[in-house]
Amino acid sequence: MILSKNPYNGEILQEHREFTAEDIDKALKKADDAYKDWRLSSFAERSRLLKNAAAELKKNSREYAEAISKEMGKPITQAVAEIEKCAWVCEYYAGNAEEQLSPVNVETDAENSYITWEPIGVVLAVMPWNYPFWQVFRFAAPALMAGNTALLKHASNVMISGGNIQKVFERAGFPKGCFQNLVIGSKKVEQVINDDRVKAVTLTGSTGAGREVAATAGKNIKKTVLELGGSNALVVFNDANLEEAVKTCVQARFQNTGQSCIAGKRLLLQEGIADRFLEKFKAEVENLKSGDPMAEDTFIGVQAREDLAEDIEKQVKESVKMGAEIIAGGERKGAFYPPTIVTGVTPDMPMFTEETFGPAIGVTVFTLEQEAVELVNRSQFGLGVSLFTSDLEKAKRMVPLFEDGAVFVNELVKSDPRLPFGGTKNSGYGRELSFLGIREFVNIKTVFIK
Ligand code: NDP
Repeated sequence: MILSKNPYNGEILQEHREFTAEDIDKALKKADDAYKDWRLSSFAERSRLLKNAAAELKKNSREYAEAISKEMGKPITQAVAEIEKCAWVCEYYAGNAEEQLSPVNVETDAENSYITWEPIGVVLAVMPWNYPFWQVFRFAAPALMAGNTALLKHASNVMISGGNIQKVFERAGFPKGCFQNLVIGSKKVEQVINDDRVKAVTLTGSTGAGREVAATAGKNIKKTVLELGGSNALVVFNDANLEEAVKTCVQARFQNTGQSCIAGKRLLLQEGIADRFLEKFKAEVENLKSGDPMAEDTFIGVQAREDLAEDIEKQVKESVKMGAEIIAGGERKGAFYPPTIVTGVTPDMPMFTEETFGPAIGVTVFTLEQEAVELVNRSQFGLGVSLFTSDLEKAKRMVPLFEDGAVFVNELVKSDPRLPFGGTKNSGYGRELSFLGIREFVNIKTVFIK
């Protein structure tokens, strides 16, 4: 049995019967059969259905959002915003996929030579609980538009949402088998990847899960895209607009109750601004409204599971043992971990070396620009970095110095359907979103006509 349990009040929401080997086989057959027709469908038809999916998301956003809030503790207003963003990515690919995948002529010694992007078949998506809809839609919208079919292995604690996503595609009118939710735990993923009918795998989640899934896919010579953890730095220079930077950094760290791969987890403050910044930052953080995820004015909910709250508590405590200091928050109650600020963090502490997946931020003070660059790059992760400065020339000059997949200036790192999203180092490889995301799970075919 796979359980959906409300982390806020402990209520068991639903027990899901796990698929047997026979159920999995049936789903694989359905996905593979659906692919045979779907790959031949026109872009106009795919686009029409994906627009239907966007409309369905908007129409029933509350229903889907409430399930998210109950299942993993996300504040309801943020859950509604997540559903709306999913509608956006559907509309984006419905409107742009045909152009993004249209053949490109290349001049050679041939009479005619060109590149086409063709579908590859059934793609498995192993997905996490932190954005139970968004993480899935940003994969599914381009994959379906490219002519592939999709199987979802959602995180065990958000299986209601997994079922709801399948419902969105069914209500939108997609042919049966184009998108299916597999009710399975992580132990059954290997057999799905090993199956010949699965052609590629995408995973969003921890580095450990990514490593195992990619190893299995590698043995089978199947392509993977990995969107793993992050430990983004927020770098505030002396010349930053203080008020704006404080507000943006609070959002960057604490939205989604700190459970986001692209959250700003390491706050790097230049010496000249550090004290004034921290004073304002602390005041804002202490003002964040914590409480019932279903209440409209709640900004900080609970961690998606109690063990995740224990993890963040441990990282903070270990760092304090090594010399850091808690200046706000720090007391866990069950699955609730309060917004926490830890100062005096050094590069050997867990708050710096590990991904902190909850509402706690580690603060490190630096003096020179070069020092900031070294601190940013001194991470096993490479998802993104935010720079706060009023000197845009300086910011542009610094862009090539960072090893990350994204540099945002005076803004938090965020995903946008129009821009590629992904990381370097232990944050994974491959890109989602934009024209690059839709070209991940395709056969790039060279055509040469003499
Ligand atoms: P996991 O990475 O374990 O879970 C993500 C998905 O991978 C789930 O569907 C999970 O299934 C599946 N999975 C886990 N292990 C395997 C495996 N060996 N083979 C196949 N599939 C697997 O995340 P956790 O829930 O354990 O969270 C732990 C940490 O991961 C967080 O604290 C955070 O640091 C990081 N994380 C990062 C995310 C991101 O957005 N980059 C998202 C979520 C977590 P099941 O639920 O059944 O185990």
